[in-house]
Amino acid sequence: MSQRTQAIGLDVGGTKIAAAVVSESGVVIDQERVATPHLDGSAPGVVIANVLADTVSALCTRNDLDVIETPVGIGLPGLVRRDGSLAFAPNLQTASGANFPALLLERCGSRHVHMENDGNAAAVAEHAWGAGQGRSDFAMITLGTGIGGGLIANNQLIRGRNGFGGEVGHMIVEARGIRCNCGKQGCWERYASGSGLGLLTTRAANEGRLPALVLACGDPERVRAEDVTTAAAEGSAEAKAILGELAWWIALGLSNLVELFDIGTFVISGGLASAAGELLPVATAEMVTMIMAAETYQSFEVVPSTLGAHTGALGAALIAMQRSA
Ligand SMILES: [Zn+2]
Repeated sequence: MSQRTQAIGLDVGGTKIAAAVVSESGVVIDQERVATPHLDGSAPGVVIANVLADTVSALCTRNDLDVIETPVGIGLPGLVRRDGSLAFAPNLQTASGANFPALLLERCGSRHVHMENDGNAAAVAEHAWGAGQGRSDFAMITLGTGIGGGLIANNQLIRGRNGFGGEVGHMIVEARGIRCNCGKQGCWERYASGSGLGLLTTRAANEGRLPALVLACGDPERVRAEDVTTAAAEGSAEAKAILGELAWWIALGLSNLVELFDIGTFVISGGLASAAGELLPVATAEMVTMIMAAETYQSFEVVPSTLGAHTGALGAALIAMQRSA
């Protein structure tokens, strides 16, 4: 078996690490899911590197792969330098500054370890095998606790000068707005993500705009974002109105990306994608009202990811295959 026809993708999130052995045609051959360790006190990334090395070794043993030669891709939620080091990870502070290629070489002998921002990895996967197939200009948008992103322009991933391109979640959409984990104020991910929905929900509940949900939960402060998405799916008009507000915030960021890059397709993944049926048509309609001379563009599409939970790991594996070739 040629080693370069398969790669291992590791998608490191704030709570879990998704790993997959991926074929060159994008098929997930084997997979693993482990909790992300958050222990502090050692050099940056060491505890996470231990878990990653164990996972890579286990997957190689199970699938008869050479651990030294098999390409490994790691997607990380932060600013990844072109040389592979993680410069800054607002939601994974114990790993900020880590050099995972060196750490994995030391622990399990992997010689072909490549790093990328998780949103960029997801964009590459959707472009090759998912909802971005055949689209030359599109954006991957991950709506989770925060917002991740990756931009494909003219069929190329935009990595930028340092490798930090595509951090769409930290575009400022509200001047002097809510404080973000990154240290700035008014970032898009404070408003248009899962935590943004939590904020809109608490505000609406306290203002008396969610009477049925407040009655069901017993107190305005106890109504959660999940209650709103569930109630909206069951047809609640008051819950749908809150999702409409969230869709407006989503549209605000998307319209800015259209103006900057003339993007035609947005592929949405992450926790909020489960409410896609309610959110995306409203977000698309709102977005069009925010674009200059929108009628002169070809139509826009805002569509859910077709690769689901594997998107990040698939992209990391594909990047590893391409950069090891
Ligand atoms: Zn921010």
